[in-house]
Amino acid sequence: MLAAVFKGKHQIAVEEVPVRQPEPDEIVIKVAACGVCGTDLHIYHGDQGAADCQPGTVLGHEFAGTVTQVGSAVTRLKIGDRVSVDPNDYCGACYYCRNGQANFCENMIGIGTTTHGGFAEYCTFKAKQAYKIPDSLPLELAAMAEPVGCCLHGIDLSRIKAGSTVLIIGAGTIGLMMLQLAKQSGAARVVVIEPIVEKHTPAYALGATLCINPKEIDPAVAMLEQGYPPVDVSIECVGLGATVQDAIRLCGKGGTVMMFGLTPPDCEIALQPFDVFRRELHLTASFINPYTLQRSLNLIESGTIQIEPLLGARVALKDIAQVFEDPAYRKMGKILITP
Ligand SMILES: [Zn+2]
Ligand SMILES: [Zn+2]
Repeated sequence: MLAAVFKGKHQIAVEEVPVRQPEPDEIVIKVAACGVCGTDLHIYHGDQGAADCQPGTVLGHEFAGTVTQVGSAVTRLKIGDRVSVDPNDYCGACYYCRNGQANFCENMIGIGTTTHGGFAEYCTFKAKQAYKIPDSLPLELAAMAEPVGCCLHGIDLSRIKAGSTVLIIGAGTIGLMMLQLAKQSGAARVVVIEPIVEKHTPAYALGATLCINPKEIDPAVAMLEQGYPPVDVSIECVGLGATVQDAIRLCGKGGTVMMFGLTPPDCEIALQPFDVFRRELHLTASFINPYTLQRSLNLIESGTIQIEPLLGARVALKDIAQVFEDPAYRKMGKILITP
């Protein structure tokens, strides 16, 4: 089969590799679509992202497909079943797993980061990581269960209440998922800060009540002019020091600042503890997607959140290198790799 192998910093190669035969508790799926994630880009650029990745690994962890083989001990799935994938396998035995914090598992195995992933025609992995989906759900949408699951964990930690005012910084794929999840969590007003004004249209369509171009006006002034109450929750979805500082600055007293965007590992920001004290800010972040994949699929399957408007170009697996090399793809919505 063809697979996109990470070869080292700034090197990804599409190669012919064997399909690994399943162990008794594993399945093989034919991949239908696999999203390109910021984590893949971090790995490609040699940064330490959410996961350590060794050269020789097939990348891709946001995918869905159809079961083509099942191991001898697999009873819950059969050939032909359509599934979405939770890429993370937790050991269940380390301190954090036993403490209900599986996302900090000390022996975590990640499909597409520590083992071969979904930028391939086929993928072999543990059956317990597959979530069966209904026939009516397109596989491209099911492939987005992982990023939505990551956003859900962030939303769970953001302390949104019915009636909250939520600020989202960045209207990329993650920002638009967060926007919808904030609405579903009861936010009465959702403000989106995004300098690329073309992105305001989908943001309004998905429920934003106010979109602000920060190059034109200070968002604090814009919200005041529109009669907005203080921000209860600000969610940073860009991953830059400057926008993290905006998230802190624009949050109201007693509010939560969710630092969701992945910053470069060496990024530092200036912070006045006295200011955090005076405003009693809750500064927090969110790491991967512990046990959120089923709820994520529930939201996607039921149409409670919309995925279609977030999808950008579909790129053939053989052409995957250009997605990593050409920054123009960063502005095109979620890129899906299709074998
Ligand atoms: Zn991802
Ligand atoms: Zn563990």
